[in-house]
Amino acid sequence: MTPAGALDALPRLRLCQLPTPIQRLERVEAALGLTGGPELWIKRDDLTGLGLGGNKGRKLEFALAEAQEQEADAVLTTGGLQSNHCRQTAVAGAALGLEVHLFLKGDRPERFTGNLIPSELCGAVFHFVGPKGAYTEEPSMTEFADRLRAEGRRPYVIPAGASNPTGAMGYVNAAREIKAQEEALGLAFDHIVHATGSTGTQAGLLAGAKIFGLSARITGVAVGTVADPEARRRDIAGFVDKILGRLGASGAVAEEDVHLLTGYVGEGYAVPTPEGRAAVRLLAERAGVFLDYTYTGKAMAGLIDQLRQGAFGPTDRVLFIHTGGQIALFA
Ligand SMILES: *Cc1c(COP(=O)(O)O)cnc(C)c1O
Repeated sequence: MTPAGALDALPRLRLCQLPTPIQRLERVEAALGLTGGPELWIKRDDLTGLGLGGNKGRKLEFALAEAQEQEADAVLTTGGLQSNHCRQTAVAGAALGLEVHLFLKGDRPERFTGNLIPSELCGAVFHFVGPKGAYTEEPSMTEFADRLRAEGRRPYVIPAGASNPTGAMGYVNAAREIKAQEEALGLAFDHIVHATGSTGTQAGLLAGAKIFGLSARITGVAVGTVADPEARRRDIAGFVDKILGRLGASGAVAEEDVHLLTGYVGEGYAVPTPEGRAAVRLLAERAGVFLDYTYTGKAMAGLIDQLRQGAFGPTDRVLFIHTGGQIALFA
């Protein structure tokens, strides 16, 4: 079986509105003084539809299909207080009739805002794990899963960001989608730039680019502090290898092919930066597109800074993937 065939053979639920549009950002280009190139384009994964949009919808198509295949009766996942991933899981779970438990880092807020509102409306069960909670292998989530199993229940645990090989298949599939859109548009992108958090998006895109022949250089802009960038790039390369292995694809991605920008985080994850705020305003004013302060604003700020530093050539076509997060503007 080809890797593409292996991808098609995986259980998958059609939860998202795909393909998401790709649009040229001409008025943003003008504002940035890019009259002689490079071209700036955006892929609207904020419009995946599922649970108000965002990149986790693509991952949940595969993760929740696996949950159903395993006849799960509850889905457990974890993230920050304003986790977009948890919101999309809560909404998808409600639509599929699955009991959803969210393990959120932080204390229960007095008033629910932003992402907590749709999650609450969809009937998710909240477990606030305190400010010291862990995103990965959150111990109280693991304990809760064990407790459910002891009661004869069948919990399905999704890691933070659905960033395991199953979830990352959503972005392998997105790479195939981008390839088809390039063919329809009669062009090829030279660069793809996006926000990187739990790295499933980047690893999936890198694996998918290899399988489906995307020529773009893929750059993740880190949205959380990365203590050891080299180790992180190595981890991402290892993640890509796992995805490729699962699809029976040959080859590997070298650490040098993992491009990660770590200079746009500011004080830390979910702490807005002035440049990120300016990017949110620019895209709103110039394109009617809403970025967010935690992920896509910082990623766009990184892209703009790279443009200013001359990282892209005048004939380059740069595709920014809008991974969502706009609901957090209301937090
Ligand atoms: C989760 C998330 C990301 C990062 O994706 P990862 O696969 O976790 O790296 C980017 N943007 C938004 C809006 C997200 O919610």
